[in-house]
Amino acid sequence: MTTHTDRVALPDVPTRLLIGGEWRDASDAKTFAVEDPATGEPIARVADGTPQDAVAALDAACAAQQAWAATAPRERSEILRRSYEAVVAQADALALVMTLEMGKPRAESRAEVLYAADFLRWFAEEAVRIEGRVAPAPNGGSRLLTFRQPVGPCYAITPWNFPMAMGTRKLGPALAAGCTIVIKPAQQTPLSMLALARILEQAGVPAGVVNVLTATSSGAVSRPIIDDPRLRKLTFTGSTAVGKLLVEQSAKNLLRTSMELGGNAPFLVFADADLDAAVEGAVIAKMRNIGEACTAANRFHVEASVAEEFAVRLARRLAAMKVGHGADEGVAVGPLIDATQRDKVAGLVDDALGRGARALTGGARVDGPGYFYAPTVLDRVPQGAELLREEIFGPVAPIVAFASEDEAVAAANDTEYGLVAYLYTQDLKRAFRVSERLETGMIGLNQGMVSNAAAPFGGVKQSGFGREGGHEGIDEYVEVKYIAMAT
Ligand code: NAP
Repeated sequence: MTTHTDRVALPDVPTRLLIGGEWRDASDAKTFAVEDPATGEPIARVADGTPQDAVAALDAACAAQQAWAATAPRERSEILRRSYEAVVAQADALALVMTLEMGKPRAESRAEVLYAADFLRWFAEEAVRIEGRVAPAPNGGSRLLTFRQPVGPCYAITPWNFPMAMGTRKLGPALAAGCTIVIKPAQQTPLSMLALARILEQAGVPAGVVNVLTATSSGAVSRPIIDDPRLRKLTFTGSTAVGKLLVEQSAKNLLRTSMELGGNAPFLVFADADLDAAVEGAVIAKMRNIGEACTAANRFHVEASVAEEFAVRLARRLAAMKVGHGADEGVAVGPLIDATQRDKVAGLVDDALGRGARALTGGARVDGPGYFYAPTVLDRVPQGAELLREEIFGPVAPIVAFASEDEAVAAANDTEYGLVAYLYTQDLKRAFRVSERLETGMIGLNQGMVSNAAAPFGGVKQSGFGREGGHEGIDEYVEVKYIAMAT
């Protein structure tokens, strides 16, 4: 493992709250530290917003709502387009900020910055195509007109694992639709969102349209916003546990909600698959974002006749990945976000080993500063191992063999989650048959990654509801108004 040196300085980033176009300190002037998970050292201090600041942010969003909704779609589109271009132009600096606060290797941070920017571009394109329809009433007596209007002020809460893209998946469609927004990034990774907010501001987003609330007391700052009858929409990406709590809180005012929650993605490999492609896809689906992705392959179900070979090849690939500080050259695996997450991963692996699984590579923490865990492949994982049920959120690949298609599908669906599944087979009929039987919102078919700004991202079951990206992404931020017109 390489160690981080002081040569990488944090680029200039705002560290205060953005409320009504003004960068300000928290009302009680308190700040909190943002840490580099590769070293455990603080890298910045950021304003620690209070419930009072939260109300001020919502006030600002409400004050800006009417004018933003009335802004010409073309102008909203062009502001988003300029924002996209500015993010791309500054991708390297933004990627470094992300790596320093979140840990992922610089190349992956850069990929996330570009992915995040893509939502701004996609929704710049969608902003001018928010259309309604005209239809004759079936009895011919009137015309039925529909419009799609902005829902109104939104509150967005985002997680630490994709600090920018999870934000633009919400900001892009909200702004395109004509909604204003208060966004609360995760306390571990506020800097990427603050840096993005400054870019949006410079690209011409008017004061109050985007407000950024950083805080450590996420429940206390969110409650007054969610309870306020002026709020029209809550959009959340994070854990299923917090999502359920927020849905309960939203019931009081019957808030519209979108919930992008946890996952437990199965990765199915049939004996007829192209095994090279399956191993390649497995590396991506497992190791992207150090395994800390809701879409991360959580468990590998492999047909018995190729299970051993797949496991050995995957282990060889993971063992060759360089672990270290994400800012260092050649590093492919950064640290986990904090000690709690690393201990959780270690506990899950120990449980599986204790039940008889075999570690082909890894299986332990990496000594030294930061929260590193070695890339790990476990095979012969027995049913009952906790990591088959729980979201691992780390660089650990458990492999289970299956004997038949029915057994594979049953095992894949044996979870309360339903975000994404991966499926490797060269048999076209099987590809469709199994895809239709898998209880997930998305399928990676002979492909280890599904994320795309032009596609509807989202889950079923306890992975949540609502879709982000694609044409569907706008639907979450508009209300349909129907006018019955006499003719
Ligand atoms: P988390 O603990 O649920 O936190 C997510 C966000 O919610 C953070 O901003 C957090 O703030 C905030 N939060 C926590 N408790 C809250 C409360 N009582 N009221 C209001 N806000 C609250 O999840 P995480 O550990 O950051 O993220 C990992 C999870 O996100 C995983 O389960 C992953 O699968 C899921 N995820 C899902 C998707 C998807 O699209 N389906 C994408 C990415 C991640 P603090 O930072 O202050 O705690």
